[in-house]
Amino acid sequence: MRDPRYDILFEPQKIGPVTAKNRFYQVPHCNGGGYRDPSAAAAMRGIKAEGGWGVIFTEQTEMHHSSEITPFIELRLWEDQDIPSIAKMAAAMKTHGALAGIQLAYSGINGPNMYTKEVPLAPSALPIRTFTNDPVQARAMDKTDIKNLRRWFVNAAKRTKLAGFDLICLYGAHGFGIFQHFLSRATNQRSDEYGGSLENRSRFAREVIGDMRDVVGDTMGITLRVSLDETIGNLGFSNAEVRDFIAINAELPDLWDLAMGTWEDCSGPSRFKEEAAQEQWVTGIRELSPRPVVGVGRFTSPDVMARMIKSGRLDFIGCARPSIAEPFLPRKIDEGRVDDIRECIGCNICITGDMTQGMGRCTQNPTWMEEWRRGWHPEKIATKGASETVLIIGSGPAGLEAARAAALRGYDVAVAEARSEFGGRVTLERTLPGLSAWGRVVDYRLYQINQRPNVQLYPGSKLSADEVMAFGFQNICVATGSNWRADGVSRQHVVPMPADANMPVFTPDDLMAGRVPSGRVVIFDDDHYYMGGVLAELCAQKGCQVTLITPSAFVSDWTANTLEQATIHRRLVGLGVKILLNTGLARIHGYGVEANCTYTDSRARLECDAVVMVASRISQDAVYLDLKARETDWADAGIRSVKLIGDAAAPAPIAWATFAGHRYARDLDTADIGDALPFRREVTALQND
Ligand code: ADP
Ligand code: SF4
Repeated sequence: MRDPRYDILFEPQKIGPVTAKNRFYQVPHCNGGGYRDPSAAAAMRGIKAEGGWGVIFTEQTEMHHSSEITPFIELRLWEDQDIPSIAKMAAAMKTHGALAGIQLAYSGINGPNMYTKEVPLAPSALPIRTFTNDPVQARAMDKTDIKNLRRWFVNAAKRTKLAGFDLICLYGAHGFGIFQHFLSRATNQRSDEYGGSLENRSRFAREVIGDMRDVVGDTMGITLRVSLDETIGNLGFSNAEVRDFIAINAELPDLWDLAMGTWEDCSGPSRFKEEAAQEQWVTGIRELSPRPVVGVGRFTSPDVMARMIKSGRLDFIGCARPSIAEPFLPRKIDEGRVDDIRECIGCNICITGDMTQGMGRCTQNPTWMEEWRRGWHPEKIATKGASETVLIIGSGPAGLEAARAAALRGYDVAVAEARSEFGGRVTLERTLPGLSAWGRVVDYRLYQINQRPNVQLYPGSKLSADEVMAFGFQNICVATGSNWRADGVSRQHVVPMPADANMPVFTPDDLMAGRVPSGRVVIFDDDHYYMGGVLAELCAQKGCQVTLITPSAFVSDWTANTLEQATIHRRLVGLGVKILLNTGLARIHGYGVEANCTYTDSRARLECDAVVMVASRISQDAVYLDLKARETDWADAGIRSVKLIGDAAAPAPIAWATFAGHRYARDLDTADIGDALPFRREVTALQND
C-alpha cells in the first residue's frame, strides 16, 4: 500500500472551475505522431489516464492556420473538421477521471508557415526563429491583426470545449508561443500600448485570457505556460521580470505552468541536468500569486516530488519525459510499488520523434507510441503461446528486455552472458562522463527479472552454437551485441582507411574498458551521435590534449535531435578540446594523421600520439550464423526458432535495442503475418471533390 510520505501527492487540487484528482500533471509533450497519427497519440494519452495522472495534456496544438511549424508534426485545430480527432484524444484522457487539457499554440516568430504559405505574424517584424534558420521573416501585427488573433483564440477555445477538454494551456514558453513573444523585449519591440513597459507587454495575455474566460471560463480552467527565464540576459523575459509579471497579474490564469528557457534548457538531458534542475528558478514564485503552480524537472523520485510540494515550491508535479518512460508512475506510487517505477534515463531519445518527424521512441518504454499501432500496453502482455522455453544469449538492453517481457508472458527464460556482469553496452557506457543515469536501463530490468522465479541468469557463460544445440531450449534469441571497429569504416571511408601500424588506434570499447590513451589524442568522429563528444570529454578529463575531427559541420551532429548539441560543443570548448569541423581523416601516419577538408580535400598534417576511432560498429553475430548453418539439425535439437536481435542484428542506439527485445518477446509463438504490415496505420481519407 501507499507510503504515507507520498499522501500529499494524491490530494485533489482545484484549477479554476475544475478539480484534478491528484497532483500528477502530465505537461504538454510532443510525440512525433500529432496530426499524422491522431489515433496513436490518443491511445498513448489514454494509457497515461490508466496510469493515474490527474491532469493530462496534448502536445502543442496549432490553433490557427496562419501559424504552423512544419516540418514538425503537432496537433492542429484550424477548423471544425479537426474537432473529432482531438475529441477522441480528450475522451481517452478522461477515461480514468483525469482532467483533459489541450495546449493552444500560436507560434508567431517561431512559425515559418512552410505548409500554409501564409505570411507569419508576430509582435515585431523579425526573422523567424526556428531550428532550421528558414529564410523567412514575420510581419509585425497591426491592431487589426491583434483583434483577429484574439478572435481566433476565442474560436479555438470554443472548439476545445466542444471536443470535451477541461483545461486550456496557452503556450508562452520555450521561445515558441506568441505570449512569450509579446512579453519579451527581445521579440516585442513595439511602441504602441502592446510594447514597452511590462504592463503593456502583458496586455495581449490579459486580453486573450479575458476573452476566453467570457466564453469558456465557467467550465474550463485556463493555464498559462511561461519560461522561468528566457536565458538571453536582461533583454529577454528574465526570471526577475517573470516574477514581476506574475505578481502584477497574480490572478490572471487559473494556474501558472512554469517551464524554463528554450526547449533545450527545459528538457536538458541527464548528461547535463540533474532532477529538479529548475528548483532555484521556481523558488518563491508560488508566494506571488494565489493560483496553483506546476513546474517540471524530470521528476522520477517520489521523495523529490513530495519535497517540492511540502516545501511550498509547487502545487503540481509536472512531468513529460518521466510520464513517457513510466505512464503508470502515479499508480505505482499509489500502490506502494515504487521499486517497479521505470525511471526515465534522461537520454532525450523521445524528443527525436518530433525532431525527425519519425514516430516517438523511448529507451525505457518500448511500448510508447505503439499502444494503438501494435496494441502494446506498458504493463500488460499476452500470456505465453505454445512453446515453453527461451534461451537469450547476451544481456545487453536487447537481451534483458527480451528476458523481462518473455518472463512476464510466462516462458521459462535463461539468459547467458559472456561477461561477469549483466547489462552489455550499458554496463560500460554508464561509466562514461554524464551517462550514469543510463544505467537505469539495466537496473530496472535486472530488478524486474530478479522478482520472477521463471528466469535464470548465467554470468560468465560465453556460449557457442554447439552448446546451444545441446541445451534443448525451444526458442533461441541471439542478442550478442556489437563491437566498435578500429579500421575507420563508417561514412567517409566505406572500406578500411589507410593506416600506419605504428600509430596506436583505440576504439570506444578500449576506452570503456579503461584503456585510455595519453598525450596528444585525435578523436575521429564519423558516428555523429554522443560517443565522440563523450570520449573527448573523458580524454580531456584524463589530461590528454584532445583534437576532435569530424566530417560534419557540427560536433556530435545527431544530438541536435536530443537537444544537447550546443551544450556538448560548449562543454568541449570549456575543456580545451580543439574542434575541427568539416574535416575528414584521409590517412593515419606513424607521426599523426592527415586530415582533409570535406569540401576541397585540402590536406593538413596533425601530429599526435594516438587516434581514437569513433566510426561504426560490427555486429557480433557469429553464434547466430553458426546456428543458422545448422538449421537442418534444429528440429532434432528441439529448437523451434532462432532469432537475431538488437545490435547483433544492426547496431543502433539503446532505444532500438530495448524495442527489439520487447518485440521479440511479443512476437514469440504468434502467427506469421506474412507480407502484412506489422502495425496499424492512420490513412487520410480522400475528400469528395
Ligand atoms: P544490445 O544493445 O543489442 O543489447 P550489447 O552489446 O549491449 O547488445 O550486449 C550484448 C551482450 O552479449 C554483451 O554483454 C556480450 O558480452 C554478450 N555476448 C556476446 N556474445 C556472447 C556469447 N556468445 N555468449 C554469451 N554472451 C555473449
Ligand atoms: Fe526518458 Fe529517454 Fe524515455 Fe525520453 S526516451 S522518456 S529521456 S528514457
